[in-house]
Amino acid sequence: MLIDQYGRKVDYLRISLTERCNFRCQYCMPEKPFSWVPKENLLDFEDLFKFVKAAIDEGITKIRLTGGEPTLRADLDSFIKMICDYKPDIDLAMTTNGYLLKDIAHRLKDAGLKRLNVSLDSLNPKTAAIIAGKDVLDNVLAGIEAALDAGLKVKINMVPLKGVNEHEICDILDFCKERKIQVRFIEYMENVHAHSELKGMHGKEILNRIKQRYDIEKIGRQGSSPAFLYRIKGEEYIFGLIDPHKHDFCESCNRIRLTAEGYLIPCLYFDEAMSIKDAVKEGDIDRAVVILKEVLSNKPKENRWNEGDSEASSRAFYETGG
Ligand code: SAM
Ligand code: SF4
Repeated sequence: MLIDQYGRKVDYLRISLTERCNFRCQYCMPEKPFSWVPKENLLDFEDLFKFVKAAIDEGITKIRLTGGEPTLRADLDSFIKMICDYKPDIDLAMTTNGYLLKDIAHRLKDAGLKRLNVSLDSLNPKTAAIIAGKDVLDNVLAGIEAALDAGLKVKINMVPLKGVNEHEICDILDFCKERKIQVRFIEYMENVHAHSELKGMHGKEILNRIKQRYDIEKIGRQGSSPAFLYRIKGEEYIFGLIDPHKHDFCESCNRIRLTAEGYLIPCLYFDEAMSIKDAVKEGDIDRAVVILKEVLSNKPKENRWNEGDSEASSRAFYETGG
């Protein structure tokens, strides 16, 4: 079992499969062009799987594949199958922008993927294009339908932004309600890579928008999820709000992150990281496990994410997987 210095059981590994992306979301990617990490610096699936097996043996029961855009990795379904063959009851999920999902959703489900979070920030083609940097909406919507058709359990992520998509909060909620899928509104997290003029919305402002259309009631957090859940009164429909500016979910944090280059990160909001790449490439899995435990011993008590906090991590969401 993996336990950190504050006694928290860590059983959730988030793996960023690539920092590359076919979108340029304003809240995630830099305005200026940048060069990607060379492909040869990425852990290949064989090496990654060696570490995943060891992490599962140490007590990881839940894995999320993310990025960048994880669907850009070739042979993604084979990697999923390797994990599921090794541990059939693993809780394996993925976060994606949905753009390529239409053609692969069934394959991913057949390989063993159970759950999928799709980012959907607007139902208006022009607004979606402004946020993502290209015309994406048709493909994303087709991807969501394909995932549902394949029998994947889908959740939607929306990042509301002032003056951009804030007026669509209830429309996205209704879109999800009609399809009986949960939406989670994520407060925009300031970061040095995002477009500088962006303004996020506070959780309260997001809820106020929803209250203009619906009566809602608090449910609370479930387990170690960062989402605080609400119910629409008189209906069964439940949605979530992720408010990272608060620290109250840190005390039950159960996660650790691995970047595509092999860096283990104890907290999304910290720059400290250690690489398992050399150990894994040399086949020294014991050393990789020692590094894993050392990173856990450095896992901070709570995140440092405060508005205007210059100490906040400079690492990009497209590297860490959000
Ligand atoms: N490309 C995939 C996607 O967009 O779903 C997976 C990676 S993305 C980094 C994971 C999640 O992080 C997405 O739901 C995205 O909306 C969210 N995200 C990225 N940058 C963010 C920011 N600055 N504030 C809040 N959420 C952010
Ligand atoms: Fe790509 Fe996801 Fe970042 Fe958008 S949020 S740029 S889709 S990694």
